[in-house]
Amino acid sequence: MSERGIKVGEATAASGQVARGRIRVAVGTAAAVEMPVVVINGSRPGPTVCITGGVHGGEYPGIEAAIRLSRGLRPEAVRGAVIIVPIVSVPAFQRRAIYVNPMDGININRVFPGNPAGTITEVMAATLFREAVAQSDAFIDLHGGDLVEALVPFTIYYQSGNAAVDEASRKMAEVYGIRYIVRSMAIKGGSYQAAAAMGKPAILTESGGQGILDEPSVQIHVRGVTNVLKHLGVIEGTPDAAEQPVHFPQSSWLAAEQGGIFYPAVSIGQEVEKGQVVGEFRDWFGESIAKVGSPAAGVVLFLVTSPAINKGDPILSVGVFG
Ligand SMILES: [Zn+2]
Repeated sequence: MSERGIKVGEATAASGQVARGRIRVAVGTAAAVEMPVVVINGSRPGPTVCITGGVHGGEYPGIEAAIRLSRGLRPEAVRGAVIIVPIVSVPAFQRRAIYVNPMDGININRVFPGNPAGTITEVMAATLFREAVAQSDAFIDLHGGDLVEALVPFTIYYQSGNAAVDEASRKMAEVYGIRYIVRSMAIKGGSYQAAAAMGKPAILTESGGQGILDEPSVQIHVRGVTNVLKHLGVIEGTPDAAEQPVHFPQSSWLAAEQGGIFYPAVSIGQEVEKGQVVGEFRDWFGESIAKVGSPAAGVVLFLVTSPAINKGDPILSVGVFG
């Protein structure tokens, strides 16, 4: 609400002002991690929306989109407030670490809403939720393929069982403007899942990948967030007319049953049948070890493009036809 100041970490924005600062995450007595945060507090009342980038530190288009939005939104044009954390996992960004925080080897997007008494990553998750998500009315988490992943853009929302929250999340996903929309049913510590479980409509959006900071992928996120902010009445205007969305009632992940050198036989965006060969493992001498079948019929949403696959690693996910 705009009549009051909004404090997130060390950033406090009075009504009609922008504040930049840091959210310090302490484990024990040391301030171990600092996340940047920008608070744009509008001069008129309205909802508060939280936007995060860099939950995975190698997903650059989402980070860049969050930074641009933080510099482009003016408090006089905002009803309510926007809280932007452009890079959540600063240690992973600095170390170019895929999936996990190199400080403790934990994927923060599996431990939300965090644990204030846990390891550094669990405390980061808990701090982000306490400081930023808890005082927001809606949440958008910007992702992409990690350093070793290619993907077709898609948006995920969690079906929490609260019909009003789920309908609001689904609507946010549709106005974002990415054609492929996945409903997630199983809670696994994802940012958007934990937020929806708290009653906050939320989406996780995926654009770009493979460590490339490319303008089209940044634009998908900038336009998408702008559309949602218009939809929620935070900024003036009507969301762009979106392409007819394709809803997947679930997605199916394929994890490696063994390690080896992986040779994919499909591309992102390709339609596959259940059981269709999607790739092959070979050993270090080039001998075939195993062929891998698609877990479901649908569309390949992401694909790990590094040939170095270990047992248990994700290989791809399929948006499953309803
Ligand atoms: Zn991610």
